[in-house]
Amino acid sequence: MIIKYLNEYQWLITSFLGASISLLLFYIKERRDRNGNNIEDGSDKDWRLQGQEEYLKGVPLVFKKWRKPREEWDHDHCEFCWAKFAEFEGDDIHRSGFADEDNNHWVCEKCYNDFKVRFEWN
Ligand SMILES: [Zn+2]
Repeated sequence: MIIKYLNEYQWLITSFLGASISLLLFYIKERRDRNGNNIEDGSDKDWRLQGQEEYLKGVPLVFKKWRKPREEWDHDHCEFCWAKFAEFEGDDIHRSGFADEDNNHWVCEKCYNDFKVRFEWN
């Protein structure tokens, strides 16, 4: 009887367990964000903000492919989260992003979206 019941409602039990686990993970992440310094919400508390306003506020940024500026220079980092830009393939390698006219400053897509209002990029 129990087995029949389990079989019939397996999908329900599975989805319920799945949802519970997702909720639990979400809760743990939220707690960590509030207690630690992993806040990534674009607010003043966001760990990625380190005074970039001084040189990036209102600076026009254009989405482009990352290119080696010189032979010995093979990567750059996002001004905010330190994500890596390069021409080669690899995990966590960004092949393109937002940069200023001289390609001196690079910003990854996530950081661009999180900070575009604060930095008046659009
Ligand atoms: Zn970034």
